[in-house]
Amino acid sequence: MSLAHGPQTLAIPGPSIVPERVLRAMHRASPNIYTGALVEMTRSLVPDLKRVARTEQQVAMYIGNGHTAWEAALSNTHARGDRVLVPLNGAFGRGWAEMAEGLGLQVETIDFGTASAIDAARIGQRLRDDRAHEIRSVLLVHVDTSTSLRADLAAVRREIDAAGHPALLQADCIASLGCDRIEMDAWGVDVLLAGSQKGLMLPPGMAFVFFNERADRARERADCVTRHDDWRPRADPPTPSQRFNGTAPTHHLHGLRESLDMIVHEEGIEAVWARHATLARTVWAAFEAWERPGGVRLNVRDPAHRSHAVTALTLPGHGTRLREWCELQAGLTLGIGIGMAPPDDPRWHDFFRVGHMGHLSAHSLLGTLGCIGAGLKALGVPHGEGGLEAAMAVIAAGSIEASPATTRG
Ligand SMILES: *Cc1c(COP(=O)(O)O)cnc(C)c1O
Repeated sequence: MSLAHGPQTLAIPGPSIVPERVLRAMHRASPNIYTGALVEMTRSLVPDLKRVARTEQQVAMYIGNGHTAWEAALSNTHARGDRVLVPLNGAFGRGWAEMAEGLGLQVETIDFGTASAIDAARIGQRLRDDRAHEIRSVLLVHVDTSTSLRADLAAVRREIDAAGHPALLQADCIASLGCDRIEMDAWGVDVLLAGSQKGLMLPPGMAFVFFNERADRARERADCVTRHDDWRPRADPPTPSQRFNGTAPTHHLHGLRESLDMIVHEEGIEAVWARHATLARTVWAAFEAWERPGGVRLNVRDPAHRSHAVTALTLPGHGTRLREWCELQAGLTLGIGIGMAPPDDPRWHDFFRVGHMGHLSAHSLLGTLGCIGAGLKALGVPHGEGGLEAAMAVIAAGSIEASPATTRG
């Protein structure tokens, strides 16, 4: 007997849950890709994508995953041999740095570890020391999905400006777009990267690179850029087929139209961010109640530096067992730990992650947390009581903050 039959839930930090209505929007015959409805609809996506990233600048769309965005952002802004500075807060920053190395860039990292946030002042100091302005970009992961640490993009921009340094600020917002607040223009982000499979609630397969005029000027001397990566025809296509350098991702585009309708035109991006903030606090409240020495523990101690999209956790000796219990007994898939220990190290099994990005409600999250609590009990793992009570209290208080007077009678 297993209690996993019935609805299944995915609580991993990407791909996220694709809403039924997005799947339905994608379920259709192949369209005319040259003229007509699809071309018009594709154009309509651009202003809505910009609303989600809070920018008036340009966006290039790619067929690919997050790695595609990493490479496209770098190749459009750099010449081989350029120096880039990569503050690290986990495995995803390291991955982006490795990609830069592969393109022939000189990569300098500052490792801030996996538990405390990036210190913008140290980045500022490094830029002040770089009197020759050799550093061309700061590559910063907004939410490093491996540790669930969130970096303060605006603070890093202030440091770059205070140092009088011309480096571009490039931000990997692949995990955070549509989950954590992002203000590309107000925060002075020059290049912003996103993917389809996280906050945008689509299957993996599309990548987005937003760029401003400063970044586009760097494009002039970028000898890394290939015709395929070139963001100019993608952002401003002379013919429809140039937007994707070939066949458009027809079905993803219909799915994206639907998800942007949900995010931008129905719920509203501010409300989407507020929902993620409340649901993230719900997750933290449950785990804070469950925390015990030697038991389950939130990776990021300071709530100010925690992402609203994903939570990384330690459960010494039992992380994998908890994931397996949830999968087999509760129909709940949790995320594996990434980058906290090598895969062949026994400590690899100490880590797991809960994704809470995108298509998530109070109802679905309480189900996820209830199953995790049941798993802790079933495995006999040391833990405190009252996790679900604490979670319910956050939901109850959040609903009062959020609801207009009419729904409260
Ligand atoms: C998911 C993710 C990526 C990588 O995306 P892929 O689609 O796996 O290539 C990069 N950066 C961050 C922060 C992510 O969360």
